[in-house]
Amino acid sequence: MPDKLVNVKADTAQDFLDNAHKLMGGDKLGDTSYDLDAKASVDPKTKKIKKVTFSLTTTIKRVHWSGPAKAKPDKENAAAIKEIEELNKAHEEEHRSGYEKTFKKLKAKLEKDLVGKDPDDLKDAVKDIKEALKDTCEDLHKSGGMITATDNGGKITVKESAEGPGGCQ
Ligand SMILES: [Zn+2]
Repeated sequence: MPDKLVNVKADTAQDFLDNAHKLMGGDKLGDTSYDLDAKASVDPKTKKIKKVTFSLTTTIKRVHWSGPAKAKPDKENAAAIKEIEELNKAHEEEHRSGYEKTFKKLKAKLEKDLVGKDPDDLKDAVKDIKEALKDTCEDLHKSGGMITATDNGGKITVKESAEGPGGCQ
């Protein structure tokens, strides 16, 4: 699925960040969400799980510069806006690949382990996957996720730093 773009109009890099935060909420510039699905069949005789299939789909929503609000950004700001958007895109894609990697590992293990187990055990397995996905997200925010722009008299520096804990679902 293509990324869902949230259009943001801005004249400077700081405007872009401020308007983007307003539209996304908090300090966010994007969001990678997932849907986790489990399909199980139960043996009618033993009442135990016969087969389980887990599936994961991810969706990226991120801000996109859609043009100036009032005045065209100067060269420095235009470049900085582009850099912010690209850094954020890369960050959300890292969330996606992290989720997929974590999920893939657990999927293989749990689909095997759950055969012959009680159908109620499926709930715990789903919980385990969700917790692992959250940990993966929090891990990423130990090094990235917070994008800032500093204007030093016309020279703009865009930086990504650690977002810190608590931003993941
Ligand atoms: Zn993030």
